[in-house]
Amino acid sequence: MDPKDIKWEELGFGYIECDYRYVSKYKDGKWDDGAIITDSNIVLNECACVFQYSQSVFEGLKAYYTKEGDIVTFRPDMNAQRMYDSAKRLEMPPFPIDRFVDAVEKVVAANKHFVPPYGTGASLYLRPFMMGTNSVIGVKPADEYEFRILVTPVGPYFKGGAKPIKIKVSDFDRAAPCGTGNIKAGLNYAMSLYPIQLAHREGFAENMYLDAKTRTKVEETGGANFIFITKDGTLVTPKSDSILPSITRRSIMEVAEKYLGMKVECREVPFTEVKDFAECGLCGTAAVVSPVGMIYDHGEEIYFPSGMDDMGPWTKKIYETLTGIQRCEIEAPEGWIKKIN
Ligand SMILES: *Cc1c(COP(=O)(O)O)cnc(C)c1O
Repeated sequence: MDPKDIKWEELGFGYIECDYRYVSKYKDGKWDDGAIITDSNIVLNECACVFQYSQSVFEGLKAYYTKEGDIVTFRPDMNAQRMYDSAKRLEMPPFPIDRFVDAVEKVVAANKHFVPPYGTGASLYLRPFMMGTNSVIGVKPADEYEFRILVTPVGPYFKGGAKPIKIKVSDFDRAAPCGTGNIKAGLNYAMSLYPIQLAHREGFAENMYLDAKTRTKVEETGGANFIFITKDGTLVTPKSDSILPSITRRSIMEVAEKYLGMKVECREVPFTEVKDFAECGLCGTAAVVSPVGMIYDHGEEIYFPSGMDDMGPWTKKIYETLTGIQRCEIEAPEGWIKKIN
């Protein structure tokens, strides 16, 4: 696609093929030098490990223009580290952290013309991913792998205001069978497709998953972590080994404490406590924070005092401060903004 034909203001969250992607291959125990290539297709044998046993992990981050005209990314080293951890959990050779950050720079620089103009609210979404590529039929990890970063321009998450959503408490466990809830892998999303479609058919935007063992503690949704605000303005976010460590959530915790002077608690959150919170939000790269207005729990509706019209006041402050930092309009903590040259 010619970037001149893209209507930046109308972009949603879909795949638009860009000119270049970054690829590195692992064979005979080592990663090759990697390269920027033009071919958007991957040709693999029918028996490739990724097809048979879903050996793949991924990441997601954005590149965008600041007012000053720089192209930047937000904390790509955190994505690199998380993908490193995800790969190890799936018995894949981790892609080196410094090379991941270098690949991010290279692929964005190559696709500069696809970075949406400042002020459109749109950004260039980066999808690093890695898969087992050689043929296996007996259950075991692959010996050969491909690391790739594709990019695609995406629109702003909120179009015409951040309307609070309704979610439901799910009867399913999130990523429980092998305890892979703390890694970013397509296999977890595959498992969540049925519960999410079910929730949508019932009129809810998302599922709230509780811990698999006791079904009493808040975990996360299919693709975003929870934040809650107490009536006295404390930020509470669930601590669990089986949720994905969201970079947005970790950034929010720091912003709330250091920029907004809020008390921050990362701890177990019993579901029974949820009805006492003043505000609730979901956090992730896509939306930064999206407000939750109501949680449906088996016939009972829990409405938050922040209502169904807008973000709650604390959530809004957090959202504005973090997005201000990302846009380089508020001074960022050391190392959070990576300029693309
Ligand atoms: C990606 C993801 C998140 C959000 O993480 P960010 O780093 O903030 O984008 C939360 N939960 C799951 C399951 C995810 O896959």
